[in-house]
Amino acid sequence: MIELQNVTQSYGGSALLTDVSVQFAPGSFHFLTGPSGAGKSTLLKLLYGELRPTRGHVQLFGIASTNMARDQLARTRRRIGVVHQDCRFLDHLSLAENIALPLQIAGQLTPADRQNLADLLVWVGLAHRSDALPAELSGGERQRAALARAVMIDPEVILADEPTGNVDWEMAQRLLQLLIELNKMGKTIVLATHDLNLIRAAKTQVEARVLRIRDRQVQLAGASL
Ligand code: ADP
Ligand code: ADP
Repeated sequence: MIELQNVTQSYGGSALLTDVSVQFAPGSFHFLTGPSGAGKSTLLKLLYGELRPTRGHVQLFGIASTNMARDQLARTRRRIGVVHQDCRFLDHLSLAENIALPLQIAGQLTPADRQNLADLLVWVGLAHRSDALPAELSGGERQRAALARAVMIDPEVILADEPTGNVDWEMAQRLLQLLIELNKMGKTIVLATHDLNLIRAAKTQVEARVLRIRDRQVQLAGASL
């Protein structure tokens, strides 16, 4: 379980989120929506422990991020996969090397890791692109690769920040299907998007809560979507 407890987040004195409490139960699927600049990325950073709240607590699997020592936070982050909006690949490494990177930081790849990597590349439809450099990939390929990299560490929670922001509708649907599959495997998904059509498409296939950031609060969006 990860949750925000009475979190206020300010940048330079002006509050972006005020006294927000919200829970993300194991195995749940959450959409996070709201206009550009509302604080979606900020909320994801709080959930990942990249940002510590100005006030309140972010509980990551029962421990407040503010109370974690550096190494404990690093271990906790290995239970959370993040798909960044800008993908953040290393330009000089191949696609396969980039996806394997989170594991290589922990040591050499085992034969089982190599098999997982090969399986993941097939799963996201990029097996034929494994030797390509990031700059050679299309937007959709980059986003699928970013998802594969997030999944490589077998996290319990996956946070995705506008993964469909720069891809066409068909690719957006494909990314959504991958996230739904991960959710069916029991993973908690938090997907930030302002694409209401994507949310509508998902709601016919998966039980998802839609959270909306508005007026510095996180609200549960109604059936009006
Ligand atoms: P993200 O969801 O990662 O913040 P956006 O496209 O929403 O991406 O915003 C890109 C950048 O522009 C961010 O740094 C964001 O804070 C900033 N930004 C977003 N909306 C506004 C706005 N209305 N006025 C000024 N800056 C904004
Ligand atoms: P969203 O993802 O909903 O577009 P963000 O969380 O990226 O929103 O940003 C929300 C607001 O916070 C924006 O107005 C942005 O300018 C501001 N902001 C984000 N990150 C920082 C930062 N590190 N320092 C100062 N202001 C920031």
